Amino acid sequence: MKVAVLRETRPDESRVGLVPDGVKFLKKKEIEVVVEKDAGLQAGFPDAAYEAEGATIAPDAAAAVSGADIVLKVQPVTPEEVGVLARGQILVSSLQPTSNLEIVKTLRDAGVTMMAMELMPRITRAQSMDILSSQATVAGYKAVLLGANAIGKFLPMLTTAAGTVRPAKTLTLGAGVAGLQVLATFRRLGALMEAFDVRPAVKEQCESLGAKFLEIEMEDMEDEGGYAKELSEEQHKREMAMLTEAVKDKDVVITTAQIPGRKAPILITREMVEGMKPGSAIVDLAAETGGNCELTRAGETVEHNGVKILGPVNLAATMPFHASMMFSRNLVTFVMEMVDKEDKSLKLDWENEVIAGVCVTYQNEVRHAPTKEALG
Ligand code: NAD
Repeated sequence: MKVAVLRETRPDESRVGLVPDGVKFLKKKEIEVVVEKDAGLQAGFPDAAYEAEGATIAPDAAAAVSGADIVLKVQPVTPEEVGVLARGQILVSSLQPTSNLEIVKTLRDAGVTMMAMELMPRITRAQSMDILSSQATVAGYKAVLLGANAIGKFLPMLTTAAGTVRPAKTLTLGAGVAGLQVLATFRRLGALMEAFDVRPAVKEQCESLGAKFLEIEMEDMEDEGGYAKELSEEQHKREMAMLTEAVKDKDVVITTAQIPGRKAPILITREMVEGMKPGSAIVDLAAETGGNCELTRAGETVEHNGVKILGPVNLAATMPFHASMMFSRNLVTFVMEMVDKEDKSLKLDWENEVIAGVCVTYQNEVRHAPTKEALG
């Protein structure tokens, strides 16, 4: 069996789909690895590090994928990149198929088997293959650093000969994977923390990280998949009234609230920003799906009445070394799901909910129901 690793071509992408440690793992399983030249360079993994683990370096994408069974990548392929893939090859990367229908059609027509990793089912067994979780961990950590950097204050309490500094007050909205990492990082930096999520199940987790969990009267908003449901108008009003008060004295607010498949809910309005202290900052991790703050602009920092509103996108790519290590571990674990334990050959078992869950195209057909529906 042969696995190929492509170099990322999008200008803002510095991660790589497989790191040298992943090569070592695959080689032990008797799987050959070919890496496109300089694929890991921006993430801090030079070609020599891959070669040291037994990979072959190919001069370009076409040479890398030639004869490969599986091709690994971080970002969705571009229409040009699809051109180097051959019928029957399995591409494993992110895709967001319902937002990338043209690429889905191209992959389908080319007979490429597409495995879109963000479709990974949220079951315990699949945690080690979940790119959304691993990359949200990176984003949560980095959001705190951005927030800390945007305010003219210390986060921790300091007692010095030049006076005592009070700790910064923070609020974290949404306590999923990213939000909990935000709290863990704020805690390490000594900030005071409040947190809120519509899923009361996370209250204990927030408290165990040292945060005060804000509460409002609300029914349980967790769906069967462990995700949040959209709030009713009445519940949303209640949340907004509570948050209007909560943001007033905060130095850093980090928002991570998302509803799968929908635009992110607006939790901080213009008026609420106007009620905040000048010099404070909001880091909106939902910027890519519309933002949790009304004033957020994806990829930009907006300043309103002295409050900075940061809308970072693709934060994981700003920490490519560790983000790639985690992404690579997710992909390698998934690759092993496709290898038969007995004869070590490639085998797509459609009874395996992990494989069935992430497969978008196979043998010129779209298998992912929402994507099929969107294509009409
Ligand atoms: P997400 O990115 O979809 O959303 C982030 C958070 O925003 C969620 O906690 C959600 O409840 C919250 N939110 C939504 N609307 C809100 C609102 N109006 N106000 C405040 N908060 C709001 O979520 P996620 O980080 O992907 O995780 C969701 C859950 O799935 C978590 O419990 C996580 O542990 C679980 N999970 C399980 C697996 C697995 O078992 N394989 C993998 C990943 C995540």
